[in-house]
Amino acid sequence: MAEQFDLIVVGSGAAGLSVALGAGGLLRVAVVSRGVLGLDGASCWAQGGIAAAVGPGDSPSQHAADTLHAGHRLNHKSAVRWLAEAAPDVIRWLLSLGVQFDTHQGRLTLGREAAHSFPRILHAGGDATGAEVMRCLREAMTRQPWIERYEFCEAQELLKRGGNVVGVALRNRRGETVRLVAPNVVLATGGIGQLYRYTTNPIEADGSGIALAHLAGAELADLEFVQFHPTALAPRADDSNTQLPLVTEALRGAGATLVNETGSRFMGAVSGQAELAPRDVVARAVWDQWARGHRVFIDARQMGDSLRSRFPSFFEACKARQIDPRVQFVPVVPAAHYHMGGIKVDLHSMASLKGLYAVGEAACTGVHGANRLASNSLLEAIAYGRSLGERLAQRGPAQPIAAVDPQAQAPIRPLSTNDKLVSARAQQIMWNDVGIVRTPERLTQALQQMHVMERRLLPGSPALRQVLVCRLIIEAAIKRSESIGAHYVENTKNIAASASPRAVA
Ligand SMILES: Cc1cc2nc3c(=O)[nH]c(=O)nc-3n(C[C@H](O)[C@H](O)[C@H](O)COP(=O)(O)OP(=O)(O)OC[C@H]3O[C@@H](n4cnc5c(N)ncnc54)[C@H](O)[C@@H]3O)c2cc1C
Repeated sequence: MAEQFDLIVVGSGAAGLSVALGAGGLLRVAVVSRGVLGLDGASCWAQGGIAAAVGPGDSPSQHAADTLHAGHRLNHKSAVRWLAEAAPDVIRWLLSLGVQFDTHQGRLTLGREAAHSFPRILHAGGDATGAEVMRCLREAMTRQPWIERYEFCEAQELLKRGGNVVGVALRNRRGETVRLVAPNVVLATGGIGQLYRYTTNPIEADGSGIALAHLAGAELADLEFVQFHPTALAPRADDSNTQLPLVTEALRGAGATLVNETGSRFMGAVSGQAELAPRDVVARAVWDQWARGHRVFIDARQMGDSLRSRFPSFFEACKARQIDPRVQFVPVVPAAHYHMGGIKVDLHSMASLKGLYAVGEAACTGVHGANRLASNSLLEAIAYGRSLGERLAQRGPAQPIAAVDPQAQAPIRPLSTNDKLVSARAQQIMWNDVGIVRTPERLTQALQQMHVMERRLLPGSPALRQVLVCRLIIEAAIKRSESIGAHYVENTKNIAASASPRAVA
């Protein structure tokens, strides 16, 4: 027996909760998440902030122009314009929900980040913006107790009726399959960082929404564009975790420099902006240092004791690794950070299949083009999410779904040792060959290896979806032969075989 809803939202990050809250007028709403609602996913980890043109002299058209510039003009212009114009209202909404943005003398404090032409980044708790935003979205959810929560549930397959998406099959924490049906299904499943060996993203960010949408027949877009953050805290030698603590750009903005193990700065030779060059430029320079056999560090010693109060998250993360950044170099690596591509949607967040929508990092609205402007992603997740929820609520309750097509997919198998091995192997291949610097030869090799792994995995095994999304990203990367934005293709065969950050551990 399937449970009937008006709306099913898969994902409880900033995007998913904004949809659910926006749809306040609908009574039958289900929110599905892999962990505790509103506490899993990337949103709680967002440190930097949220962009909105609310400062003196700034305007949505300036914000839009900066977004287009960062995206190398591959952006969808109407989507960008809509987002920049919606941003001030998103901030008003968040304030009305109780978000405590940082202020100075009663006014919102606005930070300036690389590639923004005005100070327009709102922060909360210094570097805890995502956590504060999510705290308020979760509290707002408690005021809507009729929203049904499916926590610790894994969406395994989209249910269809004819060509339309009409529901989701879930596996709950007891391993049982549960079917939910609704005429509106929203995928808000977040990013793909976990497809890579090193990432700032949490474990849930494995691109499962992209796999679900693709297997149901929905169109995807811009999959090749993966943004790498240049500085995450390097793992310890014995650390097999893929998620690494992010070392914020603000640290470099405050004067910290990048050096190799000889203490030599290298960014000056790469860009006139040195350490403050765009993310992709800095990430490639770090990669290049490894390729030359060097290790890379952040030198923040000149900030001394002020590090503790100005960058508490960084200070604590160093402390946990027995590093004192006041007197020591801190080893860093780049890490997969944000996916510009995803499930292709229109301006109303509608995917190419009727009944299916996507929001947040899982979606490709076209806002980010070939590279994301910092602090636009929380904004996009909330703005598009809330607007979709409101629009669906205006339509009112829907007719019950009478029946669904028989499920095509094999029942999901439990995670096996083989899955874990395949998953780790795929992450390493993505890191080495589909990462910061790509070559046609290595992309082709990576594709072949994914094909082999796909053939060897049993239908329904957990690693199969991961390998599928890796393959789709590689295919998209191969199709785009020129370098643009986050997709950098080096046409020589002389790139070092593997500039592994293990060397810096
Ligand atoms: C360390 C870090 C710092 C960042 N800093 C910033 C910043 O300063 N500013 C900014 O704008 N952006 C920042 N970002 C990016 C931003 O946080 C994300 O893009 C954004 O939070 C994504 O929100 P989301 O709701 O789309 O996905 P998420 O918050 O990742 O939520 C995804 C949800 O989907 C669920 N899910 C996934 N798959 C399934 C499945 N198969 N079945 C059921 N549930 C599923 C998860 O459980 C989770 O609830 C940062 C990201 C990281 C990792």
